Amino acid sequence: MSESSFPGPDTLCEDCGYALKGLSAEGNCPECGLAIAASSPDLRVGPGEGNQVDLNLVRRPRTFFRRMSVGGSNAPARWFMLKMILLIGLCWLLWDSAIGSWSLEADLFEAGLLVAGLYLLSYVEVLGVIFFGRRRGWRVPFALAERVVCYACVGWMPAAILMGLTLDRYMAGDIDRWMHRLLGVWGTWQSIEMMVLIGCVAMLWFEMLVWIGVRQTKHANAHTRAEESDNTVSQGASPVET
Ligand SMILES: [Zn+2]
Repeated sequence: MSESSFPGPDTLCEDCGYALKGLSAEGNCPECGLAIAASSPDLRVGPGEGNQVDLNLVRRPRTFFRRMSVGGSNAPARWFMLKMILLIGLCWLLWDSAIGSWSLEADLFEAGLLVAGLYLLSYVEVLGVIFFGRRRGWRVPFALAERVVCYACVGWMPAAILMGLTLDRYMAGDIDRWMHRLLGVWGTWQSIEMMVLIGCVAMLWFEMLVWIGVRQTKHANAHTRAEESDNTVSQGASPVET
């Protein structure tokens, strides 16, 4: 397959998922009117091999994911996630040691638990994305869901800070004291419920980034160059469904 064959046999309109095969690259999508050229994989220039993650990830995530390449290896994305989660673990460790209430072993154990927990939650999210993508007829196989989640991991940073600060106050007994003063009645169950609630709020940025990422890649087109493995995106759910 050559690059010039655009729209190719697997090309979808990136907005609505209409199969563009056989149409002219100069025309518009018959379904939603988007210029067919706007669905060209040439517009997906990064990040990937050789391209760095830019600040758009946090400033304009919509643009970031719209430009994210969807073919090729996931190694750069996985590497980004590893760095991000290890950084959070390290910050946690430093913070814990600075407070000085625990032993180094306990601090290391906590940081390790945090890293493992973030990895677990991230891959649960990948499965969730695949599940919802299939139900909605999106073209989001494992490799693409994983790539989106890897970059969305930057959203764990504020979550970790918020949860860290909350847990810190909780351990010190401040939260129970404040809530008791505020409401009069406050028990262990309320504490647990509140921690779960704050945990959910803390996850919002991560979840939002995943959502934006999936929205911008749910019908994404990969390059059909020979060296890029087609199996990353051309498999998966049936592409056109309304
Ligand atoms: Zn369309």
